[in-house]
Amino acid sequence: MPAIPERRIMLSRIDQKARLCMVKEQDGAYMVSSPSGHTYRVITHDDGATATCDCVWGQYHPMASTESGCAHMRAVWSYLRGA
Ligand SMILES: [Zn+2]
Repeated sequence: MPAIPERRIMLSRIDQKARLCMVKEQDGAYMVSSPSGHTYRVITHDDGATATCDCVWGQYHPMASTESGCAHMRAVWSYLRGA
């Protein structure tokens, strides 16, 4: 399989998961409730293009961009776009 379609499929799966998350603004951060029942704290940075999530993935990727990131960050980007 070529690399690009695999990446698209992966992102679309993350976005499917992101759509199931609830986003709530609190104390300058975004509290993201996932369907699994966990709540994660996402902080967007001043550059407007990167964010940090306190889930396990996010702790290893503290400056994830809008094009990468976990479902929680992607849920926040969607929320900020008004989607
Ligand atoms: Zn996360």
